[in-house]
Formats: sequence, C-alpha cells, structure tokens
Amino acid sequence: MTDKIPVQDVTVDPAVGSHDPQQTVTQTMYAKREHLYVREIKGLFQRVRRTSNWALMALFFGLPWLQWGDRPAIWFNLPDREFHILGGTFYPQEFYLLGWLLIIGAFGLFLVTVFAGRVWCGYTCPQSVWTFLFIWTEHRIEGPRNRRIKLDKQSMTFDKLWRKSAKHAVWLLIAFATGATFVGYFTPIRELVMDFVTLDVGGWALFWVGFFTVFTYLNAGWLREQVCMYMCPYARFQAVMFDKDTLIVSYDEARGEPRGARKRGADPKALGLGDCIDCDLCVQVCPTGIDIRDGLQYECISCAACIDACDSVMDKMGYPRGLVRYTTEHALEGRKTQVLRPRLLGYLAGLLVMLGLFVWALGERTPLEFEIERDRNQLYQMTQDGRISNIFTLNVRNLDDREHTYEVQASGLPGLNLVGDGRITVGAGSTRIKAIELHLDADALDRPSLPIQVSLQSVDDADIREEREARFIGDIKR
Ligand code: SF4
Ligand code: SF4
Repeated sequence: MTDKIPVQDVTVDPAVGSHDPQQTVTQTMYAKREHLYVREIKGLFQRVRRTSNWALMALFFGLPWLQWGDRPAIWFNLPDREFHILGGTFYPQEFYLLGWLLIIGAFGLFLVTVFAGRVWCGYTCPQSVWTFLFIWTEHRIEGPRNRRIKLDKQSMTFDKLWRKSAKHAVWLLIAFATGATFVGYFTPIRELVMDFVTLDVGGWALFWVGFFTVFTYLNAGWLREQVCMYMCPYARFQAVMFDKDTLIVSYDEARGEPRGARKRGADPKALGLGDCIDCDLCVQVCPTGIDIRDGLQYECISCAACIDACDSVMDKMGYPRGLVRYTTEHALEGRKTQVLRPRLLGYLAGLLVMLGLFVWALGERTPLEFEIERDRNQLYQMTQDGRISNIFTLNVRNLDDREHTYEVQASGLPGLNLVGDGRITVGAGSTRIKAIELHLDADALDRPSLPIQVSLQSVDDADIREEREARFIGDIKR
C-alpha cells in the first residue's frame, strides 16, 4: 500500500463539518509571530559567547579610529578607488584578492560547520552579536524576563513609559553608533564625527548613516530571530553540511524521558521518570524560542544557552550535567564519533591550498602599479635632428606605505633613449602622472610599429620594479 500525503478539504466548514461548495475556508500560510522574552543565563558557554561578542564589537567600533601615518588604518576610499588596509593600498585591479579572501572565508565556514555545526551563528554572526547587545540593554532597562512580561501586560504607567522610552532611545543610539562606524570605514571617521558635531554632514553620508541606523534598529531590536529563521540563507543550506559526526546541541532523550516535575532530591527511577524535570528553562533562554527536546531544528543557532540552563538545573537537582550538551548523532546512538572524515579533510585541504595561494600572491605583489598610454594627439613627431619622437603618459601608483622615487627606463630597440628627467617621486598610497618622451634614430625603425618595454625601478628598493609593453611608432617611408 502506498502512503498518501494527508490533505485537508478546505470546502469543509470546520464549524459544522459539512461540505459547502459555496463556502471556502481561507487558511493562512503565515504563522503569527510569538514575542520572545529571552531569559538571561550564566554558564561556561555564555561566558565564551559574551567574551566573543564584546571582543567583536570592540573590533568593529575601534578599527576605524586607528591611524596609520596620516590616514585611517582601514579606509575604503571609494571616490578615489583606493582601499587602505594597514600599510597596504589596494586598487580595484586587485579585487581578485578580495575574491580569494571570500573563498577562504567560505572554506573556513564550511570546515567549522562540518566540525561543530552552526557555531558561527551562535558566537560570531553580526546578527547574533547585535541582537545579544540589544537584549542585554533591554534586560538592564526593563528588568529580567518575568518583569518584562509583566511590564508588557500592564497598562501604561509612568514607570512603563520611561522604561520603554529609555530602551528605544538607547537602541537608537547604539544603532546610530553602528551606522556611523560602518560609514566610518568608507570615510575618515574623525572628520565624519566632527561633521555631525558641527551639523555639517554631507547628503550621502547622512543618507547612509541613517540607512544603517534604521537597518540595525529594526534587525536587532525588532526582527531578531526572524532574520535567522526566515531571511538567512545559511540557515537553510547548513543541513547539507551536517553529518552524523557533526557536533550539535542535543537533548539526551534516552536519559531525559519520560520527563516530569518532581521534588528536589527525588529519585527519578522510583518515580518512573527520566532526568528532565520539564522546567522549560531551556526554552526560556533560547534566542530563537525553540525547544531543543524536539530534536535538531534548523532554527537552532548552536548558542548553547540551553546547555548552560539545563546544567544549572541538573546542579540544583544533584543530577550529572550534560542532559543537553554538545554531542554528535553517532555518540547519542552509542557509536564512535569519527572526527577526521573525508568531508572534513576535504574542506581542510581546500582551505590550506587557498590560504597558501593567497599568501604566495601577497608575497609576489609588487607595491607599484603603472599604466602607459600614448599621446593621443600625435602618434609621433620628427625632431630637428631627424630622430623619431614618441610621447607617452605614465599613470604611476605607489601602493606602499612610504614614498618612493622611481627611475624610468626604456628598452627593446637599439638606440632608444629617454629625453629629459627620467625620475618620478610618488608619496605613500598616492598616484602621479608623468609624461615621457622617447627618441629613436629613424634608421633603427624597419617597421611602422615595433614593441618596446618601459619599466619603473625604485631607486631605494631593488625589489620594486614593474615593466609594461608599449609600441614605438614612426614613418619608414621618409
Ligand atoms: S536550542 Fe539551544 S543552542 Fe539552539 S538556539 Fe536555542 S538555546 Fe541556542
Ligand atoms: S532545562 Fe533541562 S530539565 Fe529543564 S526542561 Fe530543559 S532539558 Fe528538561
């Protein structure tokens, strides 16, 4: 017999249970959101989580204030198309390095997910970090979970009004600081802050700071777990990377069931119960509002709040810890967990290869870029002494964090020589344009266009040298 997909006849009126073809019952596909009052919990994993959250926030808010010489250490200068990262300056031509970094990040994320599930989500994802900060603020202003529930149920009083107003004001302040800091990666933050202080902010800066303020306020203050559950694509495809040896937060059903309330110190075996006292604490601390006892769910961000909650209950009951714990499906089935497995080793190998290539590419990178362009007005000129002259423009970018002087050299044809000053000095992370004039004896040209090489050699660093190919043009029919 084949299984049938259960269907419901929507022409049946649920009130009377009879068919009425004229009347259809509308069923909504949208599950109404239940507001979560997340309970704060202490414990080992929450200490790790808090430390990681505060450290990441300090990094985000602090980095744009760091100076490197006379400019910000991290500055994505879009108008000038220059990306300053510590001592290095990168240009759009070097975007392949960013692509490389993204691939390395993806391999790292896959590796960590195969090994330890969604720890990225629980401990480091910006959405979790900012939601944690907003809930932390809420707790400080409105009080712990039970008081917050009571506050929301009661009618408006002065106490409720000031607490709600203060919470939203602090949320907006944090959101504004986040927006301004984010924009501060693209424009020097010291100037941006002074512009705000003197009420002299440019239109675009105001727009983007406003945009990210609203974005942060809504995401971390209002949407919270909804972002993880309905908007984040990673939540959807992470299951593909899980296997039975992946570390996940799990409830030990064999030990916990049957669940049930009992007095402290009571012997669960004598009562025919498992170790779960059905206190619901693991659900109350969960930032996504799920019950880990229902098994692994895609909403779980592996934050381990339920582990800390349950461990505290087990301590009080005098039971061993670990009813909810980081474990693997194989371990729960009583089988051996295999840490080193082909999938994990594959991602590790991919990560190491990409990292090695990235480091090699960085090592090979010369902190000098230049383009050579022919003078468009005149392909060539004849000099009074009968030589052919070609004029080129060099667009030179010094990608280093110190000034360099470069010597221009031309080669490729016998007798080819540079006329005038062949040196150009370019400041750290700056660009300069220089016109050069090359001369060649008319006899040396046996074709109207021949390849030549133009190079720049740093006079103070023998390793900094770049060469470009150009063409020398002249008339051979004179
Ligand atoms: S089930 Fe546990 S680990 Fe998963 S999100 Fe909820 S509290 Fe965090
Ligand atoms: S915290 Fe532990 S004991 Fe309490 S309901 Fe959750 S699993 Fe059961």
